[in-house]
Order: sequence, then structure tokens, then C-alpha cells
Amino acid sequence: MDYKHITVAGSGVLGSQIAFQTAYKGFNVSVYDINDEALEKAKERFHQLKPVYQEDLGATKEDVNAAYNRLSFYSDLKQAVEGADLVIEAVPEVVKIKNEFYTSLAKVAPEKTVFASNSSTLLPSQFAEVTGRPEKFLNLHFANEIWKNNTAEVMGHSGTDSKVFEEVLEFAKAIGMVALPLHKEQPGYILNSLLVPFLDAGQQLLVKGVADPETIDKTWMIATGAPKGPFAILDVVGINTPYNLSLAKAKAGDKDAAEVAEYLKTEFLDKGRLGKQNGKGFYDY
Ligand code: NAD
Repeated sequence: MDYKHITVAGSGVLGSQIAFQTAYKGFNVSVYDINDEALEKAKERFHQLKPVYQEDLGATKEDVNAAYNRLSFYSDLKQAVEGADLVIEAVPEVVKIKNEFYTSLAKVAPEKTVFASNSSTLLPSQFAEVTGRPEKFLNLHFANEIWKNNTAEVMGHSGTDSKVFEEVLEFAKAIGMVALPLHKEQPGYILNSLLVPFLDAGQQLLVKGVADPETIDKTWMIATGAPKGPFAILDVVGINTPYNLSLAKAKAGDKDAAEVAEYLKTEFLDKGRLGKQNGKGFYDY
């Protein structure tokens, strides 16, 4: 694996974490987002990550400043991917947005560049053709709070080159992840095959009026010894992602999911409660 220059596309909750972790481990990282406003938000996220790395990992001020200095910022995709060995895509979990992103990326990325999607629920085979380089495309899925929840699920589609698959496993290890190979496509990988039904079940208990978030979380935590219940986890994930997931299911005719999507929109997104990222979600931080 001789990846040196990495581009992270989409600098939201996960993209900013992936970019910072990669830079912290010594790689030069180009951060791409749609406009300067989004990039300014990303810079704020990076500045917020610095003390977290000091606190959680014992990093020094010099370490985190050096990591920040290895980041560069672009709203022009062609410039962002110049010289990139690997592009990690973390744009919103919306098929149309990802399709448009890969169509644009295919036109401007160097031939050598490997593309990896951090998608939580979408399969690489869905986008393989539109990338224009199916053999160099796969999913590389991180967990939120990547610096401590350091799983990296690596999942190709049937046309992914096995050499690329191995290289991406090596890259994941090089940025401090526990690399987890999946031998076939699985919607939701290992983690979300477990987590998504769990979070859905919690949200159903809430919108059906069975119990409030604190009671649901407390039940789970005390009974299983887990450190967090579904609503504390949803706050960490950020409300946008579960909203998009419920909306997609609602569009496919799922009435329960439609109820959850409506609830998350009116009670949370419309009120600016985005989750832990802005200090207000199911809980106040
Ligand atoms: P987010 O909404 O926090 O961030 C998305 C970012 O993408 C924003 O900065 C937005 O400006 C940018 N963006 C929008 N359109 C774009 C485009 N066309 N090109 C480039 N950037 C664009 O979302 P997130 O939670 O970081 O999720 C991003 C991806 O990571 C999704 O595929 C999601 O499934 C996956 N993921 C999320 C989590 C999580 O816990 N939040 C965990 C694992 C994987």
C-alpha cells in the first residue's frame, strides 16, 4: 500500500472525523465540500476535534496542530482530487446526491485513484458503474467517533479488484483502525445489520408513545450493561442520518418509518436540534 495523498469528500459529521484521523496519522488530506460555507463549518469541527484528541488519546498540542496543518480545503472537485491515491466519499446518505457526486468525480479524478464510500446503508454495486472504474471502487465504512470507535468495515462488490481490497485494508490499519473485511455485500455491513434495527425499535417505542427516550435508554443500559441506549446513540450519529433513512423507507411505503421521519423533522431538525454535534438532540449537552 503506497497511498500518500487522500481526499475526503463531504466534511460533515463523519467526513470531518475521517479527514482529521487520516491527517493525525501523517497523511496529507484534501477536504472537499460543496461551498466555502460548508468548509468553514468543517474547520470549526476540526478545531473542536483537537481538544478531544488531547483528552481521549493523550495527543499533544503539537500533534493536533500538525494534523490540522496537513489538511487543505477545496470547493473545486478537480483541484481537490489532484494527485489523490484514494478518495473517501462521505456525502449525504441520499442516492441522487451520491450518484451525482460519482458522475462528477469520474470526470476529474486521476486514473490511478481508488474511490471508497463511507455509506452506511448503500451497496457498492449500486454505484460501481457510475464511478467509471468499478474495479477500483468499494465501501470503507467507519463508525462515529472514529478515533476511539475504530472499526473500518471494508466491503467490495463482485467487480472490485482483490488488490484494491487488500490495499484499502492496509490503509485502514495505517490510520489506526481495526480493519474488518466482509467477504460479500451485506446491506448495513456487520455493524448496521445490528444497529439500525435496534435504533428503529427505539424510535418506534417513542413515536408510538410507549415510553420517553430517557426511560428507553435507561432500560437498555441497566438491563444489558451497555454504556448508551438508542437515543444517546442517535444524538452521537446526528439526527440527519436517521431522518434520511426513515424518509427513504417512508417513500418505499413504510408507514411506521413515515411517522418517525415526520417526528424527527418537526421536533428536532426544524427546531435546530441536530444531535450532540450542536449540543442539542434528545438530550442537552
Ligand atoms: P452530514 O450531513 O453530517 O455531512 C454531509 C456533508 O456532505 C456535508 O458537509 C455537506 O455539505 C456535504 N455535501 C452535500 N452534498 C455534497 C456533494 N454533492 N459533494 C460533496 N459534499 C457534499 O452526514 P454524515 O453523517 O457525515 O454522513 C455522511 C456519510 O457517512 C453518509 O453516507 C452516512 O451514511 C455515512 N456515515 C455516517 C455515520 C454517522 O454516524 N453520522 C457513520 C458512518 C457512516
